[in-house]
Amino acid sequence: MKQKLKQLENPYIPKPYKILDFHRETFDTFTLTVNMKTSHEPGQFVQVSVPGFGEAPISICSDSKDFIELNIREVGNVTRALAKLRKGDKLLVRGPYGKGYPMQHIKGNNIIMIGGGCGVAPLKGAIGYIENHRADFNDVLLYLGYRSPDDIIFKREMERWKKEYHIKVTVDKNAHGKFCYDAKEGFITDALKASSFTNENKVVFICGPPIMMKGAIDILKQKGFHDDQIFISAERLMYCALGICCHCMIRGKFTCIDGPVFRYDEVKDFKND
Ligand SMILES: Cc1cc2nc3c(=O)[nH]c(=O)nc-3n(C[C@H](O)[C@H](O)[C@H](O)COP(=O)(O)OP(=O)(O)OC[C@H]3O[C@@H](n4cnc5c(N)ncnc54)[C@H](O)[C@@H]3O)c2cc1C
Repeated sequence: MKQKLKQLENPYIPKPYKILDFHRETFDTFTLTVNMKTSHEPGQFVQVSVPGFGEAPISICSDSKDFIELNIREVGNVTRALAKLRKGDKLLVRGPYGKGYPMQHIKGNNIIMIGGGCGVAPLKGAIGYIENHRADFNDVLLYLGYRSPDDIIFKREMERWKKEYHIKVTVDKNAHGKFCYDAKEGFITDALKASSFTNENKVVFICGPPIMMKGAIDILKQKGFHDDQIFISAERLMYCALGICCHCMIRGKFTCIDGPVFRYDEVKDFKND
């Protein structure tokens, strides 16, 4: 009897999706809306590629099954090539990959999100999830830090967030005294230190430069937070995103499949790696 051969899909081959919108956020960051219909958790990422340039992991920063949004900073070959794409162009994408924020398991809590620069992107996905499941969560406090007013991303969303949530914005320097959402000059960790919240019924998401994440965790610990109340997003250089190449592995954990979101007690001993 002839047996039907099951066709194996090659997990490394991306599929083309149409770009629905290109929005310039700042001089070096932009947001792509991509016609990719997929279910995903906030904090998960996709691998996007540009032929001849390469592939890069980018966090999904939206919460919809009908499309994905990707906020990208131009830092190198792939991300600069991505910046040349426009509405109507095709984008090669594979994924989504990784473990995101445990939204199902933290219902009923107050959520604190601490983001620095581009690190606000994955948090925007979690904010979107909360907007779509508002009754499941209590207060939301956003602490967002940027280098300058010109580096503030998601200005379109900021007005809405300001009405819905407690929001503190800081800029390292505001040399020209620009209006920027009542932002105070200083680091986001200063705003965190000055806040009077306790750890009661709270879960914290942190994403940003390592030095900011470390400072934020130290302050949270001083405020009495336990390690299992804190979730961090780890960024490592990665290639396969499938737990095969081992490039993103830290002491037996793959950032691509065990993360990129980790509960702090799972990774706190990896600080120096
Ligand atoms: C899980 C995950 C999610 C990410 N989400 C986003 C996102 O939402 N938006 C975004 O703009 N970027 C995100 N990044 C970072 C992004 O993938 C890199 O900036 C990108 O791969 C750079 O590619 P490139 O070819 O443009 O730069 P390259 O030419 O490869 O590198 C430019 C510079 O960036 C450094 N670099 C490259 N990748 C990383 C990395 N992963 N961590 C630290 N430094 C790096 C290089 O060492 C080099 O100094 C994410 C990374 C990971 C691992």
